[in-house]
Amino acid sequence: FWFAESIRDKKFEDLYELGKELGRGATAVVYKCIAKGTNQAWAVKILDKKVEHKTVVTEVGILLKIEHPNIVQMKEVYETLETVYIILELVTGSELFERIVSEQYYSEEQAALAVRDIISAVDYLHKHDIVHRDLKPENILYENLSQDSKLKICDFGLSTIVSNKVSLVTLCGTPGYCAPEVLKGNNYGKSCDMWSVGVIAYILLCGYEPFHSDNEPQMFKKILKGDYSFDSPWWDEISNNAKDLVRKLLVVDPAKRLTASAALKHVWVTGMANKKTHME
Ligand code: ADP
Ligand code: MG
Repeated sequence: FWFAESIRDKKFEDLYELGKELGRGATAVVYKCIAKGTNQAWAVKILDKKVEHKTVVTEVGILLKIEHPNIVQMKEVYETLETVYIILELVTGSELFERIVSEQYYSEEQAALAVRDIISAVDYLHKHDIVHRDLKPENILYENLSQDSKLKICDFGLSTIVSNKVSLVTLCGTPGYCAPEVLKGNNYGKSCDMWSVGVIAYILLCGYEPFHSDNEPQMFKKILKGDYSFDSPWWDEISNNAKDLVRKLLVVDPAKRLTASAALKHVWVTGMANKKTHME
């Protein structure tokens, strides 16, 4: 079997030319790459199995079938003894976070469009029984640099492909987007993603985090209590419908939190977003 392994070991390098680094997260580094013999550019997410103590499980096929306009498409997965290579659709816009920082805050209409894109993707994943578990602005990318670019969620389903013992809280880096039940180490389900959507919606509307604190223990406490507010003057001009959606998402009890399909029907999401539609 030695030669079978070595063929597998060569596969990614044989088929792709590695390009510049596009970004990195808690678990992986993502590079641009070109499929050899073509001009087609892709992104490749490279995971070091030794560093992360991870093993790839076999249900990759399910994830390869995931196809939605607001989800970064996964193309292929290669695995060697040490490394996992995930070939992804290349997106060329910035991270949502970078736009938040550069524009400070969005108009409500822009926020509603962004939230609609994110919830559409989450709804689709949930319908396929996939929980994202790490929704945060770094994992939400603009397809391109145009003002009306749609958003794409990346970094989903890794928990399904890769089994690991690293707790989600460690993986989170910052607990700012983590649902209370996740922080508590309780069993959690799809609804934890909707908490993260609530946090992201809040930030898009006012430009700062709902559970912002000087230190992490303080932030944990606030999240566990669902202790946030619509502070004046930042929230004075924001519509009641927008606040209503945030209120229904940042609910400590996951059973009482709005689901993705219900959130898609929320009047703020439908009303605001329908004023303007994306160029497809
Ligand atoms: P991690 O699991 O380590 O968080 P991610 O999948 O989030 O890794 O990727 C890390 C970063 O790489 C992202 O925040 C983003 O900036 C960039 N990135 C990820 N996927 C793509 C892609 N398909 N096209 C372009 N950049 C990407
Ligand atoms: Mg990430």
